Amino acid sequence: MTKPGAKCSFCHKPKDQALILISGVDAYICESCVEQAKTIIEDEIMPFEADGDLAQVNSIDGKDIKMLKPMEIKERLDDYVIGQDDSKRVLAVAVYNHYKRIMQQKEGEEDDVEIEKSNVVMLGRTGTGKTLLARTIARLLNVPFTIVDATVFTEAGYVGEDVESMLTRLLQACDYDVSAAERGIVYIDEIDKVARKNDNPSITRDVSGEGVQQALLKMLEGTDILVPPQGGRKHPEQKLVKVNTKNVLFICGGAFAGIEKQIAKRINTQVIGFKGNAEEEVDTENLLQYVSHQDLKSFGLIPELLGRMPVLTHLNPLDKPTLRRILIEPKNALVKQYKRLFSMEDIDLTFTEEALDLIVDKTVEYSLGARGLRSICEAIMTDAMFEMPSQAGVDKFEITEEYANSKLDKTKLAVMEQTV
Ligand code: ADP
Repeated sequence: MTKPGAKCSFCHKPKDQALILISGVDAYICESCVEQAKTIIEDEIMPFEADGDLAQVNSIDGKDIKMLKPMEIKERLDDYVIGQDDSKRVLAVAVYNHYKRIMQQKEGEEDDVEIEKSNVVMLGRTGTGKTLLARTIARLLNVPFTIVDATVFTEAGYVGEDVESMLTRLLQACDYDVSAAERGIVYIDEIDKVARKNDNPSITRDVSGEGVQQALLKMLEGTDILVPPQGGRKHPEQKLVKVNTKNVLFICGGAFAGIEKQIAKRINTQVIGFKGNAEEEVDTENLLQYVSHQDLKSFGLIPELLGRMPVLTHLNPLDKPTLRRILIEPKNALVKQYKRLFSMEDIDLTFTEEALDLIVDKTVEYSLGARGLRSICEAIMTDAMFEMPSQAGVDKFEITEEYANSKLDKTKLAVMEQTV
């Protein structure tokens, strides 16, 4: 209880003007001073403390973004994304240079060397961590982030979404703060699905493919775009908001199924050309690692668009040891999540090594990819999660191979195989 006549010891606001007064030993604090103190702590201490003095906080238009160095970005990504070291390095450098570029503009000094934008294109099978990488980077840097699917776009005037709608989503992700959106990150998924159907420019209109690529050109390069803040064409009366995409980083991802053939064809020609031993060194199991812009062009991306995505990287397929690490190592690994859920019921949950192996084996057996780890775990854990909260006196629960097997009946897995 606050005493009559009490007031905030920081701003002297009387009790009746504050929403709440929190009392300490000899003092009071009101809600606005708590809020202000929180901001000061976040701005002044937290980034440095959390990063062990590594992170530098830079302000763009009054908004703070964390400028982590490439090695620090990679280190932080390691906490969430397992393996994929090549793409982590490439992305870390691209993102670092991108924000250096923004700083260069901010400083406003005359500089003849204009740093170009480093939009990224990532290739890799579905479920190998493309979205996870992009999302984690945006979170590390504290910038607005959105994921859009290239397949929903069509050329303006056709049924489907206009490409501008991706900026609507970005605006929504930061509460319509235009200046924050203008330095955000957009992840465009399934960019391979807007590839031209064959390598020859067509004389007929290609609404879903090349037309969309054309529409993306300006946006990726950087220009003022009028964005309907509520998206779509359903609200013709809405006032358009101008968003400049010069400093928006676009990361495009796609599985590019079948591109290995193009890569193999190109490498073969080169190998014959060099007449060396290069053939022996080519790792035919994972041809994606040799991908070049030329291969993407052969796949059907137009050269103008490729020119605006200068950074190219690939993700490796996930093998059993990697899947096993994904299950237990990341900061929010599935096993850690289930343990936490059970610890809230005061139950110590453990998995035997064999049970973990079984989860991985089943995921691989049914080609479920990393997303499948979750489905398999859910199938194993649901009964326990249903029953345990009502069982008194249980303080330990071990998932053994036998228990896991008993929960994984074939029908469930067969259904998953079709849905994942
Ligand atoms: P995509 O490559 O299709 O974009 P995602 O990034 O969406 O794949 O991955 C799907 C899920 O699989 C993620 O949410 C994550 O839980 C898990 N995952 C995939 N790859 C990794 C990885 N390398 N490290 C950790 N988790 C991963």
